[in-house]
Amino acid sequence: MTVTTDCPKQYPATGISVLIVGAGVAGLMAALECRRNGHDVRVIERSPEQVITGDSFTIGPSAIHALDHWPQMVIENEKIANNPTISFHDLTGARATVPKHINYRQGQNSKNAPEQVHRHWRPQFHNMLLKQLSAIGINVEYGHRAVEYFEDDPAGRGGIVLENGDRMDADVIVVADGVGSHSTSVTMGREIQARPSGEALYRTAFPVEIAMADPVVRERFPIVEGNEGPIELWTGEKIRFIIARTADTMSWALSHNDYASATESWSHSADPDEVLKITATIPNWPEVADRLIRLTPRDRLLHFRVMWRDPQPSWVSPAGRIVQIGDAAHTYVPSSGNGATQGIEDAVSLATCLRMAGRTGEVPWALRVHNRLRFVRVSCLQKLGLINRKTYTRAPSKGNFTPKGIENLMAEWIWNHNPEEYAEENYNKVLDHLQLGTPFQDTNIPRGHIYRDWTIDEILCQQERGEEVELDGEWE
Ligand SMILES: Cc1cc2nc3c(=O)[nH]c(=O)nc-3n(C[C@H](O)[C@H](O)[C@H](O)COP(=O)(O)OP(=O)(O)OC[C@H]3O[C@@H](n4cnc5c(N)ncnc54)[C@H](O)[C@@H]3O)c2cc1C
Repeated sequence: MTVTTDCPKQYPATGISVLIVGAGVAGLMAALECRRNGHDVRVIERSPEQVITGDSFTIGPSAIHALDHWPQMVIENEKIANNPTISFHDLTGARATVPKHINYRQGQNSKNAPEQVHRHWRPQFHNMLLKQLSAIGINVEYGHRAVEYFEDDPAGRGGIVLENGDRMDADVIVVADGVGSHSTSVTMGREIQARPSGEALYRTAFPVEIAMADPVVRERFPIVEGNEGPIELWTGEKIRFIIARTADTMSWALSHNDYASATESWSHSADPDEVLKITATIPNWPEVADRLIRLTPRDRLLHFRVMWRDPQPSWVSPAGRIVQIGDAAHTYVPSSGNGATQGIEDAVSLATCLRMAGRTGEVPWALRVHNRLRFVRVSCLQKLGLINRKTYTRAPSKGNFTPKGIENLMAEWIWNHNPEEYAEENYNKVLDHLQLGTPFQDTNIPRGHIYRDWTIDEILCQQERGEEVELDGEWE
């Protein structure tokens, strides 16, 4: 192993070249982990420069643990992670429950559960990954948009065509280009149809000083210190309003059902006046919330359309030279709380599988093994997101109310997973399973769960009939 200050333990070179398409969270983490595991890495990104829009997400313990190999990121993460408390309110802003930290749940035979949930501002987390990548000498190649994917089986290469017609190739193409990836035409043989979920979110994050300039807003949402991160969840039947803040950032999101003007894009901007038209229809909506909305910088407000896609079982191209990770492989609704976490787990798993394969000729099997190790787990979490979504639409009751949707995400099978160890332990078992048909039992899913394929329509129909979606095995 090579040892340097920026990447303490690097595995011997495998000679495998990896071209990553998309410098989002999954793509950057894949670049870091591929380098650590001994592969040659290039990263391209369609944007002309680093994008700084976005608000917050949860990075679960299974993904935070992956930072342990990167001492600088461990230090940086301590500074940027915040410890949220959550309180529930009705749509007048009246508080129904006291603020409390959300804790991961200890399983029956498990190690100690991590203390609390951590939230991150996406721009800060993304910047941390980017800085680390640059520190090990890999710079993202901006302004490169992939428009087509191809593979050359006899040559053992995968490739992309860029918007300007240039072609790039490598032993592996890692597609990390986020939601709505066109690469499904090579992995699934068709474009995946996304459907509106019926929900859209106005969402923003901006410097807290902008909000604190208004004394009424400052009094209702006072400055917090250190790593504190209070979140207020105001819930009504059709509308949810979420206010999250830390010492440096103020954020709010309004979820509603009129999605026509929203797009599934992280760069589409919206006008705060559109939001005020909605809040004007809510009985007894407080003026302080409108004041906060009015303070929002226009270029920081997104109107994000939440889309649905059925699980995509195949992330790998026929000749095994192209693989999808992150949102390109599996999109999540916000109530799954797992988009970034699973993208990071993918990155770690893929880099490990390529190391286990050890040479370019074995790359196709490494990608297929990775796909098999990961698919059932991410599909279970996609399903959980759909189930959780239902539990947020109720108005809060007084007292100690935590929606089932939040509790579901605290289960041990979710947090207590190490994708690197899992890939190391199971690589050869899955290889035999794929090549010889020997049985393989997933152990990164709820214990006792027997997986079967499912569709969004099937779950929606059950929910419309008022039936509980059956979750066999130990999901809690
Ligand atoms: C700017 C931005 C802000 C976001 N903010 C939030 C947020 O506030 N909360 C939240 O929960 N999630 C947010 N997300 C989504 C979240 O980052 C992902 O759900 C999760 O982290 C999985 O990451 P990913 O790398 O798969 O996708 P993403 O993080 O979406 O990254 C995909 C990357 O691929 C690039 N790309 C797309 N198409 C091409 C192409 N053809 N060629 C080259 N590059 C391409 C995109 O520009 C982007 O940088 C945001 C994503 C982006 C891009």
